[in-house]
Amino acid sequence: MTPEQPPSETQEPAQESSQESALPEGWELVVGLEVHVELATKTKLFCGCANRFGDEPNTNICPTCLGLPGSLPVVNATAVEYAMLIGRALNCDINPSVFARKNYFYPDMPKNYQISQYDQPTNTNGHLQLPDTQTTIGIERAHIEEDTGKTSHAGTSGRIHDASAALIDYNRAGVPLVEIVTRPDIRSADQAQAFVRELQAILIAIGVSDARMEQGSMRVDANVSVRPTGSDELRTRCEIKNVNSLRSLRRSVVFEALRHIDLYNNNEAPRQETRHADEETGRTTAGRSKEEADDYRYFADPDLINLNPSDAVIKAIDDTLPPLPAQRRHQLTKAGITPDQADIVVDRNQDDLLIKAVTAGANAELTTTRIVNDLAVDDWHCITGERLAELINLEHTGTLSATQAKQVLAQMCQNDQTPQEIAAELGFEAMESDELDTLLDQIIAENPAEWQRFVTANASNTPAEDEKKGEDAKKLVGFFTGQIMRQTKGRADGAKVNQLLIQKARSTPTEIAR
Ligand code: ZN
Ligand code: MN
Repeated sequence: MTPEQPPSETQEPAQESSQESALPEGWELVVGLEVHVELATKTKLFCGCANRFGDEPNTNICPTCLGLPGSLPVVNATAVEYAMLIGRALNCDINPSVFARKNYFYPDMPKNYQISQYDQPTNTNGHLQLPDTQTTIGIERAHIEEDTGKTSHAGTSGRIHDASAALIDYNRAGVPLVEIVTRPDIRSADQAQAFVRELQAILIAIGVSDARMEQGSMRVDANVSVRPTGSDELRTRCEIKNVNSLRSLRRSVVFEALRHIDLYNNNEAPRQETRHADEETGRTTAGRSKEEADDYRYFADPDLINLNPSDAVIKAIDDTLPPLPAQRRHQLTKAGITPDQADIVVDRNQDDLLIKAVTAGANAELTTTRIVNDLAVDDWHCITGERLAELINLEHTGTLSATQAKQVLAQMCQNDQTPQEIAAELGFEAMESDELDTLLDQIIAENPAEWQRFVTANASNTPAEDEKKGEDAKKLVGFFTGQIMRQTKGRADGAKVNQLLIQKARSTPTEIAR
């Protein structure tokens, strides 16, 4: 039986091949990423408004997140904890930090400045190893800042140019973000994708964000430039905004790199600017020319205190950091589970279940197969490792067929009965060899002519007759199995029926057969 590959929920399917995204000979890609992550706190960064996606527009707002005169921000301690957790998961140093005002005008940013961190961010100097375990991407910083509101352009295209109105929702204004900035260490579109994927897995594992690109709780900007292979210069980069899927990340990075190479080949050069990724076409189009940091006139926010986490606080953060996905995948592959399966299991957060079941004595290979192929559902959480082990043992010893085991497993998601109880309820347990044996004898007695032909077909004879007999035997196995299945309503194990039929045919005296 070849089980179907289940769809994985958080991962996108395999992308266009790496070859398609290779650059022309002699050129090297240089990419750094800026990833904004919305933290899954109950409330916003500087006020008590709910931090919740999908609510009615402008319902989670107050004077502070609307920037009304006289309102004052108070920092959310959980947001700071989450930010430090992210820092530690990315091997960063945690530093004393200062909130700064980043001044610029945007209609969805009511204060006309964004509270961020500038020259003294919470986390600096980390790194993340890609799942290939060969490539390490440097993390320059991971700082805390507030999100802006959200503008929607009403009109046919949804873009600003032909919009008839701009609608602003301030629910998102003041939602806590951590902005993770990598070093320009990424050398291919594959690596860019792998980085985002691994980061996503880490953020989910440490429970600080749901990291959904399609809902905007994780937003990726890519700084792209190219250089002649072997050079270590950093040429003019363009920042691609609005990348909202892994596929779009790959396509827009490659498009942008080829655009730069084209310009250089024509003795031109790219301008430093932001560019928009078009999800449909995979192309990028010019946005605004990029400001330098000086343009923002950063200064320390006088309304907020500096953060100066003590050693004890940092130690507490380290102590709460759970095992990270890379470590968890490694634990599984060490136990003999293939890297692909380990990926899926950790991705679905089912590795704990797998390990507990195997520790409780279940066969590792069969347990992995059942989890990967038959537990791609949301309601598996009531299954304990011990119960799963019981089920796997029933299947491994042949008490339950594969089909039956899957049916029992599906029911185990619904209630807390033991696999034995469920199997009994479904009538699987009654289908022991004894019952099958009796039933088969009865069917044989009811169909004497067919049985005679089957016994003859199974008796060894001259080779010339073998092919014809083989075919006849196959047809008759189908006939008897069909009868059994009808009478047991499909409860019988087909392989077992086949085995019993041959056994019985061989033990039927040949003089009767002839
Ligand atoms: Zn508020
Ligand atoms: Mn930012």
